[in-house]
Amino acid sequence: MADVISLCSDLVRCKSVTPHDDGVMEVVANFLKAAGFETNIMIFRSPDGKNEVKNLFAKYGSSKEMILGFLGHVDVVPPGDGWESDPFEPIQKNGYLVGRGVCDMKGGVAAFCCAAAEFAKKEFAGTIEFLLTGDEEIGTYEGIQSLLDWCCKTENIPHDCLIGEPSSSAVLGDRIYLGHRGSINVTVKAVGKQGHVAYPDDFKNSLSDVCRFVVHMLNYKWDHNDQRFPKTNLEPTMLFTNNYACNVVPDQTSANMNIRFSADYDSSKLREILLKESENFDVSLEFIESGNAFYCDDDRLKSLMVSSIKDVTGVDATFSAGGGTSDGRFMISHCNTIEFGLIDNVIHQKNERSKVQDLIDLEKIYLLFLESYFLGNKNI
Ligand SMILES: [Zn+2]
Repeated sequence: MADVISLCSDLVRCKSVTPHDDGVMEVVANFLKAAGFETNIMIFRSPDGKNEVKNLFAKYGSSKEMILGFLGHVDVVPPGDGWESDPFEPIQKNGYLVGRGVCDMKGGVAAFCCAAAEFAKKEFAGTIEFLLTGDEEIGTYEGIQSLLDWCCKTENIPHDCLIGEPSSSAVLGDRIYLGHRGSINVTVKAVGKQGHVAYPDDFKNSLSDVCRFVVHMLNYKWDHNDQRFPKTNLEPTMLFTNNYACNVVPDQTSANMNIRFSADYDSSKLREILLKESENFDVSLEFIESGNAFYCDDDRLKSLMVSSIKDVTGVDATFSAGGGTSDGRFMISHCNTIEFGLIDNVIHQKNERSKVQDLIDLEKIYLLFLESYFLGNKNI
């Protein structure tokens, strides 16, 4: 089998901090080409021409009957300070591979590449596709959305999709994501009248107006009827004023809140609720929608993954729709989508790492999944 540790290390060496590519797509494309895949690196540009992102579509097989897609990203978040080693020069330490992107999600990409290359040596009737994006961490338009548009136009939408994002919790294989809550960002703004803090009759405190509304929404009772998802939750994330003196009240304040919401709500319903709740407060609201909650309930995909995990690790997987949202929210309207990958507790942190054994086991799980998906498996 191809060496998943060496491929993952090659990917980590590319400084592909969103939206930079630094040659990472070529590394994947060259690997897949050598395994017999057709590869197509595509650059998608934003409508204003300012952003451009490299994406990869690769496929093995020409059957239109049974198409399994692997969706992933090869961009990473900035490394930040305080690493014990160079974040872009992966090292092995105490049984771990350390480097930016090892878990999120170059390890998952490397594992599926190696598994697919191995599986492609067999006879099978079906098609394996790779949909890899270069801007998942901060974008989506020039990545997954444009890539899916292209797949629709060229009739390359898969029937089922596996996303290799980190999904495991304490040990490899203990959690599969079947969906995620939706996400919406709300900016709360207030404009008041500046003044000396000792003269309340002469000022209007914009900070008080914003805080009153944020606290009101923190006390809001959200429905929780759809038990497939964790509870809907609102969290304030940022607060800004234009004041730096402790005896002055600010005339301009804004706060940001993020709401993670179950399928009891959708973005437009949340807009309505927040606008209605804000009627008695002196604030204005702006919304940025990330996507609605989604869930995949396909029994076949679920059981194939559960049994592949069990065979390799002995672990009984559980299903969840918690965690942060993913590109699955765009995929789900086209095909069944599940998410399974490495342990997610060190992603976006300094000294990001994965057990070397987990990477090796993930490749084996993906290979078993491919075998059972395309060839059938007596355990299923
Ligand atoms: Zn990720």
